[in-house]
Order: sequence, then C-alpha cells, then structure tokens
Amino acid sequence: MPDIVILNGRVITFDGPDAEALAIEGGKITAVGSTADIRAIARGARVIDAQGGTVLPGFIDSHVHLFGGSAELEFLNLHGVFGVEALRAAVLPYAASRPDDQLLFACSIDYGLVGDRSLSRHDLDAAIADRPFAASTADHHTVYANTKALELAGLLHGKDCGVGSEVVMGSDGLATGELLEPAAYEAVMALTSLGGREMLGMTTGADPVPAPSAATRASDKDVLAKGLKHCAEHGITGLHNMDGNFYQLELLSELETEERLLCRTEIPLHLKHTDPVDRIAEAVEMRNLYNGDKLWSNRVKMFVDGVLDSKTAYMLEPYPGTDSRSEPLFTPEHFNEVCIRADAQHLQIAVHAIGEAAVRQTLDGYEAAQKANGTRDSRHRIEHIETIHPDDIPRLSQLGAVASLQPLHSPRGGFFPPYGGGDILHPSQFETAFAWKTIRDSGAKVVFSTDWPVVPVDPMLSIQGAVAGAELPEHWPEQRLGLRESLVYYTSNNAWVEFNEQRKGRLKAGMMADVVVMDKDLEALEPSQLSTARAAVTICGGRITHQL
Ligand SMILES: [Zn+2]
Repeated sequence: MPDIVILNGRVITFDGPDAEALAIEGGKITAVGSTADIRAIARGARVIDAQGGTVLPGFIDSHVHLFGGSAELEFLNLHGVFGVEALRAAVLPYAASRPDDQLLFACSIDYGLVGDRSLSRHDLDAAIADRPFAASTADHHTVYANTKALELAGLLHGKDCGVGSEVVMGSDGLATGELLEPAAYEAVMALTSLGGREMLGMTTGADPVPAPSAATRASDKDVLAKGLKHCAEHGITGLHNMDGNFYQLELLSELETEERLLCRTEIPLHLKHTDPVDRIAEAVEMRNLYNGDKLWSNRVKMFVDGVLDSKTAYMLEPYPGTDSRSEPLFTPEHFNEVCIRADAQHLQIAVHAIGEAAVRQTLDGYEAAQKANGTRDSRHRIEHIETIHPDDIPRLSQLGAVASLQPLHSPRGGFFPPYGGGDILHPSQFETAFAWKTIRDSGAKVVFSTDWPVVPVDPMLSIQGAVAGAELPEHWPEQRLGLRESLVYYTSNNAWVEFNEQRKGRLKAGMMADVVVMDKDLEALEPSQLSTARAAVTICGGRITHQL
C-alpha cells in the first residue's frame, strides 16, 4: 500500500510518455499512471493533489557550495547595489544590527559598483570607515576590504600570495583593498562570524585547525541545515558540492543521523595546485568512508583558472588592450599527472575552467588520462566553459567530457549585466562564449547548475535564463534552449553525471522517490514567467522535505 500518492499532475517522467499521477512506498516510486489508476490503489495513502502543476524528478543542482551558500543566507547581500551612496545605505543598518561582529561581511558586491574604475578600500571607507568591512563578489574570486579590515587582517602593507592570487597594491605603497583569489582573501574570511570555515573547502580543501569545539560544530551544522532547507524549498533533492573537506562530510553525516540532511549531497576532495599528487589518496579514503545514498564522495575537484571579470581566466590570446592572458594554476605536467592518477582510481574529475586556454588544458588532461589508463565511462566534468576555442568543441564529446554549465553566469541569463565587445572578450570570441546550444549540438552531454551562492539556488531562475534569455546586444549570438531539455539538464542528466541514472532522474516504478510538484504547469507559462513557478511539494527518498 502506498505511503504517498500524487494525483492530477502533469507528470514529466523522462521515461516514455507523460503521466498524471504516481505512488510512493518505502522511499521508492511504485507506480506511475493516470489519476484514475493511482487513485484506485491509494487507500490509506497521503494524497497530494498537484492541481495541474508540473511533476518532475527532484531537481539536482550539480554545482553548489553548500556551506558558503548556507552561510550567505545570514550575510548582507549586495546584488543590485550600485554607487557608494547606495552601498552606505545598505551597510549602515546592517552594521547597526550586528554590533558584535569583528568584521562586517557582505556578499555579491558588483565588480561595477563604482562604474568602470576598480573598487577600492576608499570606496568602502566612504560607506563605513569606523568598523572593519569586507564584501565578496558573487563569483567569490574577489573580496574588497575597507582600510580597517585590511589592517585587522594584516594585509594593508601587502602579502606575497604565490601564483594566481594577489593583494593588489596602490601607488601609495598600501593595499588598494582589492584581494584577488583565495590566498589573498583568506585572512579576511577568517574574521567573519563563521571564522572562514564556510569557505575552507573552497579556499584550501583543508580541515579547520584547531578542530572546532562541540559548540562550533553544532552551530555550523545549524547553518548547513538551514541551507539544506532552503534548497528543499526550491524543489531540490540532490546537490553536487564543488568544494570539500572531511569537516563538511562529518557535519553532513551527523545531520543525516539526525534526519536533518534534506538533500542528497555529494562532496569531493578539493585538490589545489599547491597540493602534492599524493593527496588523491584522501579522495579514495573519502569514498571508502562515505558511500551512502544520501551522502557520498567519489570525485576530485580542481581549479585551473580564475574568472573573466577579474581577467584571471586563462586565455589563448591576451585580453583586449592588455598583454596578459593570465596563467594556469596548474602546470600542464602537474595537471596531467593528477588526472591520470585520479582516473586510475576510477574517481570522477571536475575542473573549473573558464578561459579557452584553461578548457584546452583540461581536455588535454582528460586525454592524457585516457591514453594512460584506457577509455572508460569516466564522465569527467568541465565546470563553466565560459569560453572555448572552436577547435576544442568536438573534443568534449570525443573525450566523453561533460559540459557543466550555469545559465545565470552568462549575461544571456539576465542576472548579470552584459559586457561590451572588446571589453573583456575580443569580438571574435563571442561566437563561442557561453555557447550552450553550440556545445549541446556538438553532442556533448550538458548538465545545469547555479554554483550557489554565486547566483540564487532556485532552479527556475536558471531555467528561465536558459529558455527565455535576456535581450542582449547583437554581438551575443542566439543560444537559447528549450524548456524540456533545460529540465533534463536539471534532473535526469544530473542523475546520470553522478552515475545514478538507473536509480533517479526519471519517474518510473523502482526509482528513488525524489520528486518535486510545482505549483504551476511549466509548459503553460510564458518563458519569461518561468521563475514565477514555485515548488509546492518536495519529496526526497519518500519523505516530504518541503510543502507550501
Ligand atoms: Zn563553484
């Protein structure tokens, strides 16, 4: 007898024809069919009336930073704030509400807050000078700090951060306040109310030292639980985390025991370019320790470059008006060695690569692994691919590399303002910039995600970005996608990329009961209205994790 039945829905099964209803028992889907069929077997079950809303496999966000995203639900969000006056108006009440924070921290500050010139500590001082204040950009590749924060973090007189990171210095011999990449800003992050633990999996992949107290662990777990609830409220049943350390695995494992792990979560080993290749043994240890249906590890995550906005993405030719094409974080030899060794352990690899040279280097690494270990169904991923040289597009499907794309990162998605031709990209580069459709048409497998907290975790915002798109100047060629395929990239393809296509991502008897009931029929909405749809009910493993 079913525990739960869903009736009167527009059920997109991704497994043959659509349906109207389904039944759930013991954490699995047991039947899919018409409302009449399922009603006939529904005696004693909890009935969810979908009222004509779309019913889908639960959304899987295949690229998130759960700890950072959860933490940012607490911090001031500066998305859409432009100009020093507006910054001041946002920061002062926040400061008043947090009298005890040693560092006031905000997120999603815009690179263009003061227009074309670079933001500096003086701009932040103009907003608030008497308390340490810092803010990260949405992509988390840059942090801006005011003078007090630079002093407190010991950065005002500069710091040598090694390759890829920089405390930018001014002509006065003092730091300008612009901190590029983790090694430059980690001393600032350590001063937030969470002590930087929320970013540790991303900045270094190491565990907190000294080990946090029981009280700190408990409050960190509460932060994560709040973030997981926030995801469940948006119809999400699965997360692929893109930063990792043992600390997060331990906290999430305890949350699972306490029945507070509302989304299935995968955590990788984050291997830095400064790490020895032998750290791959830790990824194997993570997989041995954590291999459940709700929490598991089986992947190595790396960064090969930075981002376009700060011109730290590694390009094949210099950025317009400069002689810099940035540089890769890994040498090709080191990177290939990591790929070969991780692949030999049958670990999945996911690499952040935004510049076309970084994408090429990543493909070269995957090719080296294939040459060394033989071809297997590896499903290695490339995260972002914001630019790609046309010659490299066919290599994605040839090497079986998965294109992990974030519709809202692109100006096409309408969340961030577009850049002009010749500003960050040369006119010739726009043809294959954020080229979702071109990449899909090449035969490469596509998966969608947000990179939360870079953009909000609500999947419908990203789906609207991919389907409706934004009005852009004509140097941005058309790349919009269809609704059904965008839903595939958020559900069944994401189940596939985690090697779980036989267990989730389709609504079919025997599959895990991970289901979302939307409050609207998505296919009846204008593309520009898709983000008005909300998750009415989210079910993960047969358990209701959210209900409007
Ligand atoms: Zn990320």
